[in-house]
Amino acid sequence: MSDLSVQLETPTSGKYTQPTGLFINNEFVKGVDGKTFEVINPSTEEVITSVHEATEKDVDIAVAAARKAFEGPWRKETPENRGKLLVNLANLFEKNLDLLAAVESLDNGKAVSMAKVDISMCAGCLRYYGGWADKIEGKVIDTTPDTFNYIRKEPIGVCGQIIPWNFPLLMWAWKIGPAIACGNTVVLKSAEQTPLGALVAAGLIKEAGFPPGVINILSGFGKVAGAAIASHMDVDKVAFTGSTVVGRQIMKAAAGSNLKKVTLELGGKSPNIVFEDADIDNAISWVNFGIFFNHGQCCCAGSRIYVQESIYDKFVEKFKERAQKNVVGDPFAKDTFQGPQVSQVQFDRIMNYIKEGKDAGAKVEIGGTRKGDKGFFIEPTIFSGVTEDMKIVQEEIFGPVCSISKFKTKEEVIRVGNSTTYGLAAAVHTKNLNTAIEVSNALKAGTVWVNSYNTLHHQMPFGGYKESGIGRELGEAALDNYLQTKTVSIRLGDALF
Ligand code: ADP
Repeated sequence: MSDLSVQLETPTSGKYTQPTGLFINNEFVKGVDGKTFEVINPSTEEVITSVHEATEKDVDIAVAAARKAFEGPWRKETPENRGKLLVNLANLFEKNLDLLAAVESLDNGKAVSMAKVDISMCAGCLRYYGGWADKIEGKVIDTTPDTFNYIRKEPIGVCGQIIPWNFPLLMWAWKIGPAIACGNTVVLKSAEQTPLGALVAAGLIKEAGFPPGVINILSGFGKVAGAAIASHMDVDKVAFTGSTVVGRQIMKAAAGSNLKKVTLELGGKSPNIVFEDADIDNAISWVNFGIFFNHGQCCCAGSRIYVQESIYDKFVEKFKERAQKNVVGDPFAKDTFQGPQVSQVQFDRIMNYIKEGKDAGAKVEIGGTRKGDKGFFIEPTIFSGVTEDMKIVQEEIFGPVCSISKFKTKEEVIRVGNSTTYGLAAAVHTKNLNTAIEVSNALKAGTVWVNSYNTLHHQMPFGGYKESGIGRELGEAALDNYLQTKTVSIRLGDALF
C-alpha cells in the first residue's frame, strides 16, 4: 500500500486497489497542500478511506497540464484516433463493470444491481461519442462568386467539468465523452461525497492510451476546487451538473472571469401525469420508478404526481401498495431497490422537507420516517392533500418523497404541470395518442416521457427548460457544447476597395 492508494473490499467484488491521489498528467499525485478528506459509507456512516483534496493550486496544475496537452499532441491527434481511445475506454468500463459498480455502491449507496446498469450506460455513452469523433463536419457556404467560405468546427479548448454525486460515474462519462470526441482536454472534479469511482475510472484513462494531460480528474470541494475551475482564467468552458443554486454561482464566476462558455444541467420538480384512460398497473410501475429510482436522487425525478379525478382513489391505494414493496436496505443485498441517501446533509435536508410537509398540513400516505437507526435510509414517502403553493410541491427535495394530487381536465393539468420554476422532465400516461401528443407539446420540459419514466438514452438529448439548465447533454446536441464555429472567408477576386 502506498499513500496514493489503499486496499479496500466490497461484498461483491472482493479486495481491490483504490487510488486516492489526484489524477493529473496520467499520474496519481498528492495535492500541493497535502490535504485529504474522508469518504463516508452512507449505509453505515463509517469512514471508508481518505482521498487527496485538490485546492486552487492543484486546479492550476491540472489546467496547465490540460492546456499543454491541448496545444501540443492532442491538437494533432486524428479524429479517428480520438474515437478509438474513447472506444478503448468504453471497453475497459465493460471489462471492469463489476468492480466499478461495487465501488459506486460502496461510495454512493445505490443498489449494486442499479449501479451495474449505470456502468453499462457509461460504456454505451463513451462508445457512442467515440463514434462521433470522426463525424464532426464543417460546411461550405456560397455567398458571392469571388469568395470561398468554409465553416470549421473546432474544439473549445480546456474544459472544466463539475459533476454531482447522484450518478458519479454516469455523469463522468456524459461529460468526458462529448468533450473528448470534439478534441478538447478536460479537468473534471468529482463530487466530494463520491470521489472513489471517478478515481478507479481515472486509472482506466491511462490504460486506454490517452496521452498525459488530456483528461485530469480531481477530488475536492465545490467551494474550493469547483469555484477555482469556474473562475479560472485559462479554462475555456465549464460544464456543470448539480443544484440550481450552485449553477447560478458557476455562471457568475464565468461571467466575472474570462466569460468561459457555460452549460448547466440543474434541478427539477417534474410532473408525472396519469390520465383516466391509462393502463393503471403500467402507470403505477412507472410512477413508482419515476420517483423512487436512485432513492429520489435524480434531477428528473417525477416528484409531482397528478392523477385524473375518476381514478385517483384507486390509484393512490395501488401506488401505496406498490411503493411499500420497494426493498429499502443494504445496497449489496440481492433484492434491494433503494439504498441510503448519499450523506448526512442530504438526509437532514430531506427529513426537514418531510417535516415541512407535515407542518403545512399535507397527509402522509406512507413513509415520512427514517428507516432503521444506522445509515441514511428514508422510507419511501407519499404526501397527499397538498396545495400547489406548498414547499414540498414547489422545491426540489432530491429524496424518496413525492406529492400526489388530483386533476379534472387536460388544460388544468398542463397549467399546474408548468407551474414551477423548473423544466427538466415530465411524463404523461394515457392510451390516447392525441392526449399524449397535445400534453407533451404543451409541457415546458426538456424531456417528456409517454407511458414510461427515466428511460434516458445516450442517443437522445437531455437538459432543461427554464431554471433547469442551459444546453443539452447526450445525443448529437451535446457536441454543440464543446465546439466553436469558425468562419473562414477566402477572397478570390481583386481588391474591392
Ligand atoms: P448538492 O447540493 O446536491 O451537493 P451541488 O450543486 O452543491 O449539489 O454540487 C454539485 C457539484 O458542484 C459538486 O461537485 C460540488 O462540489 C460542486 N460545487 C458546489 N459548490 C460549488 C461552487 N460554489 N462552485 C463550483 N462548484 C461547486
